Amino acid sequence: MILGQILRASSFYALESLVRSGRRRSLGVTHKFGNDALSYFTERLDPTPTRRAAIHIVRQAKRNKAFQNTAFIGLALDGTTAGRCQQKQCHLCRPWRRAGSEQIAGYRHHLVMLSVVGTGLSLPIDVEPYGPGDSEYAAGQRLLRRIIPELGPRFADYLVVDGEYATAPFLHACDDLGLPVVARLKANLPELFQAAQKRFSQLPAQLSFRFARDRVEVWDADDFDPWETLRWPTVRVLYYRQHKPDGTVIEAYWLTNLSPQRVSTRSLFHMAKSRWEIENQGFNEAKNQHQWEHICHHHSNSILILWLLNALALIIERLYRLRYLHRGWHPRLSAIQLCRLLWLNLARSLPLDSS
Ligand SMILES: [Zn+2]
Repeated sequence: MILGQILRASSFYALESLVRSGRRRSLGVTHKFGNDALSYFTERLDPTPTRRAAIHIVRQAKRNKAFQNTAFIGLALDGTTAGRCQQKQCHLCRPWRRAGSEQIAGYRHHLVMLSVVGTGLSLPIDVEPYGPGDSEYAAGQRLLRRIIPELGPRFADYLVVDGEYATAPFLHACDDLGLPVVARLKANLPELFQAAQKRFSQLPAQLSFRFARDRVEVWDADDFDPWETLRWPTVRVLYYRQHKPDGTVIEAYWLTNLSPQRVSTRSLFHMAKSRWEIENQGFNEAKNQHQWEHICHHHSNSILILWLLNALALIIERLYRLRYLHRGWHPRLSAIQLCRLLWLNLARSLPLDSS
């Protein structure tokens, strides 16, 4: 199933046709099986060992200096939806409605994902689904409380999240786990948002630098008052204006409890930007290249197992392709180049003595 994810043939029917082919032995599979066996298997598989395997690999990657090109290792947490259907078929199915309509238009699945970011190597470590009556916010906290103690409190230097997570209970949960947070600051925190807008509008930018082809101006101050329920002594706020060559300007505010002594203004900007990795290298690649939206077997445990195996496959594939294969003089392969090479090599008979 992991090989199927890397080969982008993850549906149970695709796996069935592979193991029924005459070349089955090249896959290292001795017995034929059907897609129904995979349904039965994934309904009953305990997700814990797969989750532990991902944690074990990323910890080993850190020990083996796979992230050595960066001063800070980040984690990003974010939510998405996957797998639409017309009828409710499992207890993770959540109803969805078209904007402005009360009528249920269908059902879909929601999950949050945690990924290593900011290191040039995005590794999706874990996912947490949430069904009706549950929330992204609660699922995110569950995921962090489960995984941070196992990763070790010093594994990551920061957690980067979008504005919905910028609430006192969530930030306090991260404090308890020893994890500094970089969170988007939006109008859902009106006092702090308005104070930062007012202060920075009266000041010239503190720093200006190039970011790819763009020019970036940054404002940074660490002495804002926390809002009423937040038990931080002060809040640091970063504001940037990113000027694109075509004249468009992107601007955003971010808040953090990382001190300027520990993290410079420029590093904080890069931490904020690393949040996009979970969208691009996380959700987009999983959905566009690894059939995340396809539900192989509509059962809540089966769906979770497929998401976890997909994350594990992406970790293995990226470490192998971007780190292991990159040693020596080999050219760096793209994911699709490695996928094609794997397909071609499946047709090759393995020698009896493969030592
Ligand atoms: Zn469902």
